[in-house]
Amino acid sequence: MLEYHQQSSLEIMKRLDVTNQGLNDYDVQNRKKIYGSNKLVEGKRTSTFAVFFGQFKDLLVIILIIAAFISFLLGEVGSTIVIMIVVILNAILGTVQHVKAEQSLDNLKALTTPVAKVMRNNQIVEISSEDIVVGDLLYLVAGDYINADGRLLESHNLHINESSLTGESFAVAKSTEPINENHVSIGDKKNMVFTGGFVTTGRGTIIVTAIGMETEIGKIANLLDTAKEKKTPLQVSLDHFGENLALGITMICVAIFTIDLFRGRELVESFMFAVSLAVAAIPEALSSIVTIVLAFGTQKMAKENAIIRKLYAVESLGSVSVICSDKTGTLTENKMTVQQVYTDQKVIPKDQLNTEIAIEKNLILMALLCNDALERDNIEIGDPTEIALVKLGKQYGLDELIVRSNNPRVAEIPFDSDRKLMTTVHRSNLQSMMITKGAVDVLLPKIAKIETSTGVRTITEEHRNKIEEVNRDFSMNGLRVIAIAYKDIQVHQSIDAWGERDLIFVGLIAMMDPPRKESKASVESCIKAGIKPVMITGDHKITATAIAKQIGILNDPSEAIEGYEIEGLTDQQLQEKVQDISVYARVTPEHKIRIVKAWQEKGHVVAMTGDGVNDGPALKQADIGVAMGITGTEVAKDASSMILTDDNFSTIVKAISNGRSLYTNIKNAILFLLSGNTGAIFVVLYATVLGLPVPFAPVHLLFINLLTDSLPAIAIGLEPNNKNTMKDKPRDIQTPLLNKKFTIQVMLEGLLIAISTIIAFRIGLQTGDTLTATTMAFTTLCLSRLVHGFNSRSKESIFTIGVFSNKYTWLAFLIGFLCLHLVLFIPSLTGVFEVATLSGVQLVIIYSLSCMPFLVNQWYKLLFVRSTK
Ligand code: ATP
Repeated sequence: MLEYHQQSSLEIMKRLDVTNQGLNDYDVQNRKKIYGSNKLVEGKRTSTFAVFFGQFKDLLVIILIIAAFISFLLGEVGSTIVIMIVVILNAILGTVQHVKAEQSLDNLKALTTPVAKVMRNNQIVEISSEDIVVGDLLYLVAGDYINADGRLLESHNLHINESSLTGESFAVAKSTEPINENHVSIGDKKNMVFTGGFVTTGRGTIIVTAIGMETEIGKIANLLDTAKEKKTPLQVSLDHFGENLALGITMICVAIFTIDLFRGRELVESFMFAVSLAVAAIPEALSSIVTIVLAFGTQKMAKENAIIRKLYAVESLGSVSVICSDKTGTLTENKMTVQQVYTDQKVIPKDQLNTEIAIEKNLILMALLCNDALERDNIEIGDPTEIALVKLGKQYGLDELIVRSNNPRVAEIPFDSDRKLMTTVHRSNLQSMMITKGAVDVLLPKIAKIETSTGVRTITEEHRNKIEEVNRDFSMNGLRVIAIAYKDIQVHQSIDAWGERDLIFVGLIAMMDPPRKESKASVESCIKAGIKPVMITGDHKITATAIAKQIGILNDPSEAIEGYEIEGLTDQQLQEKVQDISVYARVTPEHKIRIVKAWQEKGHVVAMTGDGVNDGPALKQADIGVAMGITGTEVAKDASSMILTDDNFSTIVKAISNGRSLYTNIKNAILFLLSGNTGAIFVVLYATVLGLPVPFAPVHLLFINLLTDSLPAIAIGLEPNNKNTMKDKPRDIQTPLLNKKFTIQVMLEGLLIAISTIIAFRIGLQTGDTLTATTMAFTTLCLSRLVHGFNSRSKESIFTIGVFSNKYTWLAFLIGFLCLHLVLFIPSLTGVFEVATLSGVQLVIIYSLSCMPFLVNQWYKLLFVRSTK
């Protein structure tokens, strides 16, 4: 059988049994059964079972299991049971955390599966790319990723970048002509497109010939990487820190073990104690706490319209000091309405056009023809600029579809925000008409004549000056202006961008795109938070300046420059200037990269928005590449680290605020873990140095580790956003989390817990036996760490931020409190956990001492921590 590239489009349609109306539901169902889903097979995931057993690989856990075994051999079945319960519960907790984090990351990924536009049941619909079947008619426009292999049926200047398959970085021009050769390499199959490529310009339609593993890339790839989320910089540094800490703690434990032996304590007992101390003091949960907090945090952000694609972005979000944002649709509503028109040397309000006058009617007709938008039953499809033109037509009884069917389009050069122009060719009887619309400053140099009510004339300087003056007036009112021109060409004359010259000017159409209601407040909040908002737009400088002024981005017109001015600056000069510029107009994607780099060179962390196919490199260069979920191309989304599902600038600001909070929460959770563990070590060191009895039984330490580690730490990680978050300056990304100040804080807080515990221990020793003393020490350490969970919620006092505003910390506290009291008071447990029966007075002493670190901490915060309220 002939290969697809050798056959004509009609033959392929017949071969795959498809009509112009696309497949119907029945066909789709059948084909799904035959060909399966359009997915590349992923590598196997680790099962929950494997994750669970993976928890036992940890060296400490292995040592614990050995310890349990030794206890068993020595007949201490109680200890064996307790250790094994602790080990298993720990593994369950670890597994639940892992699975939960993975689930929420999967949910995030599901939100970003690519979509495809296909013709089905004679209607163009958007489907998930996984649902594409062989025979589907797929529509491609600039910026789309190609998600199936297919043969071209239609191509308008379609260029595809196939570098992922062929290594060729230049885009390939595609055509529909059959190729009469047998063995043609992928790169030479000009009439086919392949999964993995993306459309750089133009548009086209393909019929899908292969999906999933049958595609060319599927055949090469065999197995797709499971795309395991890489660890974030914070996690890497915590892992590193954790390893060093573990080493330090192990050394302390070995020292304590040796001293114990030296003092004549039994070998097994000393060993068990040293191991338990290591388990209690080493914060195994560090990195996984970060994962789980980030996973929950990103889910919350997704609900607030910001989908995080790369976890590390959350960490950088809190440090963002510059947001470079598009104007149209991000700062403005992207709902354009025509306001005024300029034609035949007159400015006419949009309601006062007269379609009896040929030139006025022609202007509207051309605006409808050189246009891809549609409006039916209040449903709008297409670019808002073009929808505005369609609505103008409707106002004067000119229906876009009727106008278009009377003047069929035979060729086109689609709109491209680099060129800022769009051209279409329409057939009439003997001649064809070429219509070009686009930015005034780009179109005007291509104009040779002007249409007037008295006929077509050569354009004069005076005409040009007048057009420029009107354009300026429109722009100063924040209006976006489109110029429209045309010329007659020969039938069948092929067109390209070179043909866009010697045009006849017809008129200007000016439209309003109001700023979003929330933009002004968000810009203000950015500035207060030490973040510089910068507008980067393809629009005219004067329009951009007017809008920027309205929303507070710009104060003085000197803060605005045009893209071409950047070209005259060296990188060094741009760096010097960059901090004084708030608006960049008529910008191309190359300018965007230079702007990002200039800010970064100045030591800033930059968030940059983008939607177009050429925005990819700038989005990748930015610390946070932000793609538009609604208007963004698949290519932009793929290059981004965050997607805005509502395209709204305010969402970026909200995401930054969330990013700041998440980082603070993670820091607080770590502070909690480390300070509590330090407390335990201080107590043991104290007792060892002074030659006092050992303050805890091994089971005590294991129990404390189980109850006072992960649960409260996660609860602290879930602390709601503090409303003062956006009053601080951005966090310096260079400052490590575990800096000197943080270490001192850990030590001081650990010391407070240790002091309480030591006092309890000493009172126990003085008033009772060793068992009572260890029970008091154990209970105080456990309880004070649980109460300390409230301290770690914020650098401010909990009486300032709200005692009950984080219900998870209460839940973690209550679970811990309850379990502790079960151990203390249920007779069958007291033996196993080696605790004495405590008197009421002793309990009161313990409760009071446990609250001491809390009270000191809160007192300090109330008195000395500046409330930013
Ligand atoms: P931003 O980067 O803020 O989103 P933008 O995306 O609106 O700006 P472009 O879409 O690149 O910028 O538009 C740049 C200019 O191109 C506009 O000022 C307008 O004159 C012209 N233009 C926009 N849309 C069209 C279109 N569909 N057809 C022809 N010209 C257009």
